[in-house]
Amino acid sequence: MSAPLPPALLATLQARQPLLWLNPQLGSALPASAPTPQAVAAAEARLQRCAGLLAELFAELAATRGQIESPLCAASALHTALGLGPAAGRTLLKCDHALPVAGSIKARGGFHEVLAHAEALALQHGVIQPEDDRRLLAGAAARCLFASHRVVVGSTGNLGLSIGIMAAALGFQAVVHMSVEAKEWKKARLRQRGVTVVEHAGDYAAAVAAGRATAEADPNSYFVDDEHSLPLLLGYAAAARPLAAQLAASGISVDDAHPLFVYLPSGVGGAPGGICHGLKQLFGQNVHCFFAEPVASPCMLVQLASGSDAPLSVYDIGLDNRTEADGLAVGQASPLVAPLMRSQLSGVFTVDDDALFRQRLLVEDHGGMAVEPSAAAAVAGPGWLCNSRAGQAYLAAHGLQQQLADSHHLIWTTGGSLVPAEEHQRFRQRGLLLQG
Ligand SMILES: *Cc1c(COP(=O)(O)O)cnc(C)c1O
Repeated sequence: MSAPLPPALLATLQARQPLLWLNPQLGSALPASAPTPQAVAAAEARLQRCAGLLAELFAELAATRGQIESPLCAASALHTALGLGPAAGRTLLKCDHALPVAGSIKARGGFHEVLAHAEALALQHGVIQPEDDRRLLAGAAARCLFASHRVVVGSTGNLGLSIGIMAAALGFQAVVHMSVEAKEWKKARLRQRGVTVVEHAGDYAAAVAAGRATAEADPNSYFVDDEHSLPLLLGYAAAARPLAAQLAASGISVDDAHPLFVYLPSGVGGAPGGICHGLKQLFGQNVHCFFAEPVASPCMLVQLASGSDAPLSVYDIGLDNRTEADGLAVGQASPLVAPLMRSQLSGVFTVDDDALFRQRLLVEDHGGMAVEPSAAAAVAGPGWLCNSRAGQAYLAAHGLQQQLADSHHLIWTTGGSLVPAEEHQRFRQRGLLLQG
């Protein structure tokens, strides 16, 4: 089938050759529908006013008083292992693989949306008043209300974990529709928590569609729509301000003389897109966001490179969306996020499955962190920017060559701390074999 992509790009994608693609529309006008800074601030405020509730629901959050945050870590050994020197700046890791409770970046968007729904339902039924302490949402009246309501989601795994865990903790009936990639341990963990897991033989889009259809048929069901959800996106965007505070606390400036490059694994685009949007609101043109996608599933690249809002999937160009990166196995980019990224995303690079396991091993051996394969997708980002022809072209076009030594490369690790030890051992073995 013919696709509106440049022939050379199409050929590289179809050959599943890794590449760095630069977004020619970076800097174009934001769509009118773009979330405002006020909308992002409202999400930040919701997470703050629900912190006490979260600390009550989850013992592991008592120490942080209900804050869902992850460390920002210097990664100088990883920087060196990636073949980069002082002239390339410095490398940091944003450790969302260690986000509490959900163990992945999905905690940000997923928890925010379930909390927003719980608040709205409780307000509507008069169980809380607008100014009330949100810890009331863990009280008997709220639990009784939530027990007769259902929260439904479709997922490749991690979003299901995040939504299922939070919804079940509040006392909702939780139903997670899992696509074919979903790992057994993720399903088992949800079932332990009393979540209903519905398994599908189809892909992510099919699981989402199945969840949407059942929820639409039931007035007491609320569907978390990963392909269209604004509350999810805003929960991710709320990551930007705490990150800015962490950078400042580490003495790291982000300004004309000190660019920040951020590398994020992307599936449907919601998590990395929300974070990119939030960071752009704070740092403008001094932050440069790149997505990492599997060679089999470069759905955001394909959508943006088409130059149009008409949906274009990886299947449409002959790719199969089969990857070990279960968190990134998405064939069609979010129609909510793609138009936002058209004006804000610097580019997309692709990664093959073998590289995922090699990169995961690098993060383990030189960063001291065990992440899941999806979460290692962005590790090659600094190398692409500093050492490829496309990367050099990007730096030249933005006048950044002189600033590179004073720049920071932030690799976002997006999941892994809940992965069972024996799975990590298998991932490690596969990386060691590939290292040869
Ligand atoms: C979901 C996920 C992503 C990407 O998020 P999207 O919103 O699907 O783009 C990245 N890494 C991991 C580990 C994930 O689970």
